[in-house]
Amino acid sequence: MTDVRWKLRCTTTGREYDGMDARFYSDAGSTLDVVHDLDHVRATVDLGTFDRRLGSKQCVDRSGVWRFRELILPVEESMIVTKPEGATNLYESRWLAGQVGLDALSLKHEGENPTGSFKDRGMTAGVTMAKIRGATRVACASTGNTSASMAAYAAQAGMRAFVFIPEGKIAYGKLAQALAYGAKTIQIAGDFDRALDIVQQVCERENIYLLNSVNPFRVEGQKAIAFELLQDLDWQVPDWIVMPGGNLGNSSAIGKGLMEMLELGWIDRLPRIAVVQAHGANPFFRAFTSGQPLVPVQNAETIATAIRIGNPVSWQKSLRGVEASHGLVTEVTDDEIMDAKALVDAAGIGAEPASCATVAGVRKLVADGTIRSDSHVCGVLTGHLLKDPDAVVHYHRGELEGITSRRANAPVPCEATLDAVRRHLD
Ligand SMILES: *Cc1c(COP(=O)(O)O)cnc(C)c1O
Repeated sequence: MTDVRWKLRCTTTGREYDGMDARFYSDAGSTLDVVHDLDHVRATVDLGTFDRRLGSKQCVDRSGVWRFRELILPVEESMIVTKPEGATNLYESRWLAGQVGLDALSLKHEGENPTGSFKDRGMTAGVTMAKIRGATRVACASTGNTSASMAAYAAQAGMRAFVFIPEGKIAYGKLAQALAYGAKTIQIAGDFDRALDIVQQVCERENIYLLNSVNPFRVEGQKAIAFELLQDLDWQVPDWIVMPGGNLGNSSAIGKGLMEMLELGWIDRLPRIAVVQAHGANPFFRAFTSGQPLVPVQNAETIATAIRIGNPVSWQKSLRGVEASHGLVTEVTDDEIMDAKALVDAAGIGAEPASCATVAGVRKLVADGTIRSDSHVCGVLTGHLLKDPDAVVHYHRGELEGITSRRANAPVPCEATLDAVRRHLD
């Protein structure tokens, strides 16, 4: 480690702490932001630097996170733990755009990250920080993509990983990854909030490095979604960026990244940020529409398990970006999510349910006139289709309660004869 160029800043009082201070909360009990020396960044790199790195064969340049390293975490390159992540595709589907009432729609597929979700962008930064601190053990509470990602990066870095999962529903694609990558998986007799509470206590007591999204370095890595999306667009600012919201780390990160680019003078305006919540897990939507502080939702419920969160940790951070960009928060039903998912899948793109809240939200905002049909809209697809195969198969078999399978594509039973098969081919 040479000099530490960033600081940690309390999100409510603005009090600053040393960048290597081993804390996740300020003395006022609030979460922390990583604050970069933007004058130094401006003097060191420009957009051309990032474009030149696209042609490089070095992992740190090819990574869609570390390509922007001066704005993520300026550390010695030998300390970076990367797979490399990011460099995800931006899909244009005219057919899908037409289905949601737009002339054009671009979808950034974060399910194409190494472990199948955008969590890898945050985890590469978080695990790199763990390595810099000399941590040998890392932990998180999660039922899903965070644990899958942490398990993989910890394995790569030679660290012991502890995953705390709540009892009850667990998407098997995600649990399978945590087990396969060798994370010790501890099933807590309680809900997610309880698991998060316990993991924080354990980490403090046992000196294990915590990698939940209260860790501000994860947010720094996730900012790169915004940087890379703009780079995909040759640095042209779209009208809207739309994404799902659960714990709200991702929308916080995208908002923070965009505001930093504006401050650097690298873009001249912000795209409007729209955050989409599931109706059964909508505390941020309620807070936004009422103008009141967030009231947690008890027993949050949605088929989109990655956003089934009643008490999102990062809502104030997320609200900053939404407000600064004149954006909004909306909600969609599970039926709308699965209908949108059927469209995303049928377009040949495919994504897990939570991701498709994005497209359901776009469709709703176009229908009610909030988004004009000629707007340039970019959506973030957060996770891979195979993360939750149960949701797919049950949808196509028409087995999901409360959901109309309008695009059902169930397997057909068939006698083992040529004639019988031919009847199915028209
Ligand atoms: C984590 C996750 C989300 C929600 O992101 P937040 O940062 O918690 O708002 C959405 N979709 C997928 C696939 C995820 O893994």
